[in-house]
Amino acid sequence: MYYLSLLADISFSGYIAIYKFVPFVLLFYLWLLLVNWVHFDTKAVQTDTMKWVSIITVGGLLAMCLWLFVPVFIIGFSSYLLLMITTIMVYVIHRNSLVADFEKVLTLNHIKGLLSNESAKIEKAARGFSFVTANGNPVDIPDPKTKEAYGFKTACYLLDDAIWKRAEIIKITPGEEEYKVKYVIDGLRNDADPIETEEMPYLLYYLKQLADLDVEEKRKPQTGKFQTKKDGDKASWHITTAGSREGEHITIKKDVQFSLMSFAELGFESDQIEELKTLKDTPKGLFLIAGTKSSGLTSCHYTLLRNHDPFLNSINTLEKSPAGDVQSIIQNVYDPSEGMSYAERLKALIRRGPDIVGVFDCNDPETAKAACEASKKKLIYVSMESKTALKGLAQWIKMVGDKDDALESLIGLASSHLVRRLCEECKEEYIPNPGTLKKLSIAPERVKSLWRPGDIEYTRGGKPILCENCQGQGYKGRVGVYESFVINEEVRKELLAAKSIKEISASLKRNGMQFFQERLTQKISDGSTSINEMIRVLKVLNG
Ligand SMILES: [Zn+2]
Repeated sequence: MYYLSLLADISFSGYIAIYKFVPFVLLFYLWLLLVNWVHFDTKAVQTDTMKWVSIITVGGLLAMCLWLFVPVFIIGFSSYLLLMITTIMVYVIHRNSLVADFEKVLTLNHIKGLLSNESAKIEKAARGFSFVTANGNPVDIPDPKTKEAYGFKTACYLLDDAIWKRAEIIKITPGEEEYKVKYVIDGLRNDADPIETEEMPYLLYYLKQLADLDVEEKRKPQTGKFQTKKDGDKASWHITTAGSREGEHITIKKDVQFSLMSFAELGFESDQIEELKTLKDTPKGLFLIAGTKSSGLTSCHYTLLRNHDPFLNSINTLEKSPAGDVQSIIQNVYDPSEGMSYAERLKALIRRGPDIVGVFDCNDPETAKAACEASKKKLIYVSMESKTALKGLAQWIKMVGDKDDALESLIGLASSHLVRRLCEECKEEYIPNPGTLKKLSIAPERVKSLWRPGDIEYTRGGKPILCENCQGQGYKGRVGVYESFVINEEVRKELLAAKSIKEISASLKRNGMQFFQERLTQKISDGSTSINEMIRVLKVLNG
């Protein structure tokens, strides 16, 4: 090639001009670099390597021939440049059409990116965040312009935002134009910023690697774990990915450390606590606890069990998925692969002779009958899925199959609910409208003032000033609202005489049991929650 060029220069000009030779060598070298880049780039963007390397090679050769054979230097040189640039641009347009915006080359953003410090940019995008893999290995900030870097940036943005807003669960689902993101905050779904469709493959790639999942598996459900660290705060996350026809779905769930709470910490009122303490020395009987999923049912169940002295009593549980370890309680986890039904497993446990047994997730007649039978000699706490204590009791009678059998050993019942707690920093006191109180069956003399979420204030520019404590939600955390009642001999006689669940309800009420709405009213009048939250919860409960 050099010789050809030299020959050309000699033949057309008669001598080798240095000002022609140097640019020629330089451009030839650039052309070699270009062929090399196209070779690797075609693989990265998954296009035909052979075809494009050939086009660039032939384009370059033709350009050089033009330069060699056009006698006027400036015309030859210009033709060379023009042909080269055209060939390059044809390839660039083709490869840019195959990739995401931020992977495009020779665009305004790409050139701007080249002029700025990319490593510094990634560090800024990290927002002080770092990730730790499922195996406990810290992950370095990725190099700029890599697949990892793009996924890392989106992951940092997403998790930083979710942590700030106190999301317990992040759900990402494919939408028509972008991926929709929802946060579950204090048990409620909230919309979050969507993720661009083209950013998703990188986010998935990054998170799957982080959680030690198969990056190539896009259909089958996969689950893994990872951790985040920021400003000394650590959080552990469970991630689930699964594919559908529309795209991949991601669920990221925060690992919440279980801690056993007292009745007061859970949200029981003092009269309830006093009454429940009388159960401490009960030798036998059955206590029924109702609640829906994520209603605090499991925590309430553990606290009722720990109401008894674990040093004087052998306390056992039978559970399907324990929420955590409870000190001094023997927790038995049901394993279907052992070949026993839940009821059979319970019977086997009872035979071992514990004093007190907690039966979690008791939702089938066989287990209900076994628990009912055991309660003639032991103290049994049963939890089941139901919306209220009364509905739970009706369900219980049905499962046991005999009303008298079910009521004979019943020593008490409870139900658990969670409502959002008003933010202590921004809640506002107000004088309620008597009409509203009447509608909600709240006696006006019971409440002088109520509380509600504070109004959002705005800056002069119209930007909302969000409360730092609740991030503008108006609520922070949740408080338990419980129905509870301990049945004595007299009440039991009344219940046994009752002919319907309606009569049972009337009897319980007559004997002082406060139902959910009344208990919730207490939480409203002490400023723990608001009327709007009550309306929302009642709608869910009655829906
Ligand atoms: Zn607040």
